[in-house]
Amino acid sequence: MSQDADRTTTDQLELQDPVTRYPKISPPAEALPGTGLDVEMTPKADLGEHSYRGTGRLTGRKALVTGGDSGIGAATAIAFAREGADVVITYLPQEEKDAAHVAEIIRAEGRTVETIPGDLRDKAFTADLVERTVKALGGLDILVNNGGKQVATDGLASITDEQLEATYDVNILAMFRLTRAALPHLKAGATIINTTSIQAYQPAPKLLDYASTKAAINNFTKGLAEELAPQGIRVNAVAPGPIWTPLQPSGGQKPEDLPEFGQSTGLGRAGQPTELAPAYVFLASPESSYVVGETLHVNGGMPTP
Ligand code: NAD
Ligand code: MG
Repeated sequence: MSQDADRTTTDQLELQDPVTRYPKISPPAEALPGTGLDVEMTPKADLGEHSYRGTGRLTGRKALVTGGDSGIGAATAIAFAREGADVVITYLPQEEKDAAHVAEIIRAEGRTVETIPGDLRDKAFTADLVERTVKALGGLDILVNNGGKQVATDGLASITDEQLEATYDVNILAMFRLTRAALPHLKAGATIINTTSIQAYQPAPKLLDYASTKAAINNFTKGLAEELAPQGIRVNAVAPGPIWTPLQPSGGQKPEDLPEFGQSTGLGRAGQPTELAPAYVFLASPESSYVVGETLHVNGGMPTP
């Protein structure tokens, strides 16, 4: 069976065996250049292009998804559009090719999409991003803080100051700043969804900096949820397990660890980005009106507290 998952055409709501829904992948032990492009991945990942079917759950909503060019953010942006939302995606400028692919799919749904490249480490950019989003969509109902940085090392001694600061800048400081900038635009019914990780609960020695940002994201999610709940704004998080996205082969894992990626989960395989999308849709939609400050685990069976 081909390892490529992107041609899956089985509707996501059809009864299927989660063990075999996707092949157990064994990616080559080779790093992708730079921050990684979805279009260069071997095997291909499934963003839900041919399988995610919307049911009108986000009709008329306006969403901003960071890191919406590839991986989990791209699958979420596509699902949001198929559920009836207009979407702004933001991403690193060198990932334009991936962003264009996602934008094309969203446009084909007849939804509005705006692609805004930039660096989340740049304070001026994060403030401007919210203004540009509100201008492009006419408001903001859903903020998905998903863009992130993960670089595997040999342990604490090999984490450089540069990497430490960049990881905290992208994963934590940008999340604080972007969310703060969004606040004045959010009304009752709005939702904020942060991407945390299994690493918040089971930190790998090779990912000490990254894992600790993810624990902080959980904490931020719960505290902010308490602050905003009285205003009718719900804040929640999604904690993915091992998901086949460009972040992993572009330094997120050591190349030698790639061939076994995701095989230690209960399902015995890595997850595909589109398997995360329904969690974001659920937390963004009013169906989850009584879910506040929660972390939804989507990890193929890795027991978490
Ligand atoms: P991805 O590489 O597809 O997405 C991450 C995106 O973040 C990139 O596309 C990039 O455009 C954006 N980004 C990174 N640095 C940026 C910066 N400085 N400025 C602006 N944008 C920046 O990988 P993904 O796995 O889909 O990652 C999405 C989120 O999921 C991340 O927060 C990641 O930590 C989290 N996560 C992933 C996994 C996994 O196994 N893939 C597991 C748990 C959590
Ligand atoms: Mg990308």
